[in-house]
Amino acid sequence: MLTDKGQNDAEAHLRALDQRHTLHPWTHFDSFEREGAMVVESGEGCYLKDANGKSYLDAVGGMWCTNIGLGRKEMAQTIAEQVEKLAYSSTFVDMTNGPSALLAEKLASLTPGDLNRMHFTTGGSTAVDSAYRLVGFYNYCRGKPEKTHIIARDQAYHGSTFVTMSIGNKAADKVTEFQYLRDGIHHISAPHHYRAEGNPSEENFTDQLIAEFEAKIAEIGADKVGAFFAEPIQASGGVLVPPKGYLKRMWEVCQKHDILFLADEVVTAFGRLGHFFASEDEFGVVPDIITTAKGLSSGYLPMGAMIYSDRIHDVISQGDENRWFTSGYTYSGHPVCCAAALKNIEIMEREDLMQNATEVGAYFEEQLNTLNDLEIVGNVRGRKLMMCVENVKDKASKELFPDEVDIGKRIAITAEGLGLLVRPIGHLNVMSPPLTLTRKDVDFLVETLRASIVEVTKQLRAEGHL
Ligand code: PMP
Repeated sequence: MLTDKGQNDAEAHLRALDQRHTLHPWTHFDSFEREGAMVVESGEGCYLKDANGKSYLDAVGGMWCTNIGLGRKEMAQTIAEQVEKLAYSSTFVDMTNGPSALLAEKLASLTPGDLNRMHFTTGGSTAVDSAYRLVGFYNYCRGKPEKTHIIARDQAYHGSTFVTMSIGNKAADKVTEFQYLRDGIHHISAPHHYRAEGNPSEENFTDQLIAEFEAKIAEIGADKVGAFFAEPIQASGGVLVPPKGYLKRMWEVCQKHDILFLADEVVTAFGRLGHFFASEDEFGVVPDIITTAKGLSSGYLPMGAMIYSDRIHDVISQGDENRWFTSGYTYSGHPVCCAAALKNIEIMEREDLMQNATEVGAYFEEQLNTLNDLEIVGNVRGRKLMMCVENVKDKASKELFPDEVDIGKRIAITAEGLGLLVRPIGHLNVMSPPLTLTRKDVDFLVETLRASIVEVTKQLRAEGHL
């Protein structure tokens, strides 16, 4: 048995190895050099334990993904059984496997409209990357080869491949000189009501955004625009809930101009908003393509899917016999990942986690909004289990703290000390807990976040920032 000292030594050793050899995603070099990473050892439900034995409520849900919660024996068993039976088989060309076929049929039963066609991928980025190619391929097949341009939004995040980073447009990701793909990719304003210029009403803001979209289509030429890519709620761009009617009207504009509507539901699907898919059930939109990942397997194994309509399939599958869709990955339709996803969905249905997400999500929304009385909380936004607090130096002017204050991170570190993990994104703190969250967890989460913000506010005042 390890002593406390022994445990600390083991933790320090792992942290040092990691620091020496790992390049972490989106991690600032200087702070990583100084502090290293938290070594996580185990997880159960909504809780994580670090290598020192300290427990945390993981309000980040891993990376918006641990939807059914960690440590489920049933998942371990399903995965182990599938590994023993068939650990790998390709789905290229003329092979398939049971879990892949069954998952495809299950997903078709959950998607809106005629979105009955699945292209399995390794995660969200590869789903969006494939979708980008599908848009061009579909239009090529129906004799409109020019219709390849994509319109997406500022502050969007669609993945980390070259193409998907180009389609996204988070200011913080594009500060370096690195050249993204620019030809044929266009950006319009994010539906960020809190920061909209001139404080327009929600209705006026929607009108402005629709007009901007129409103007962008006219500028490019409707005959050249292939698709509009949109996260129903922009996730890592700052949990941007669109103003009322916005998504539906954007969809109508797409239909008018024969433009495909792609809903990037990598985050919003599988219960985060209380539905299997949020596009139709939350926003009244039936997309032509849905990309998804994360909650599809609740993070137990890597898995994504590009889901598209029968209508698109009818076009791409007709005609020239030598034509094929050149997209796919060694692990597309991986039998173990698909078996895990199927079991994950079964658990969601059996435990009615959509209902829990809806009920506890509403309570979370209500309770988190009580933080609005704090001096540095400018805006609490989000829906159900997808929430965010925007911290500001001045509530009236919405002025931000200078970058060096690193306010989101400072609050996150203080909360971590109190046993709560919230994700800092610039001046924001973002939360996406598992769907199994309870009201008691919500109470702890909100109380602890409040205490953390109050503590940081005191420090900032002492340092002269307030
Ligand atoms: N789309 C959205 C909306 C996302 O939030 C993410 C990941 N955060 C991705 C795509 C990329 O998914 P992955 O990291 O699985 O490649």
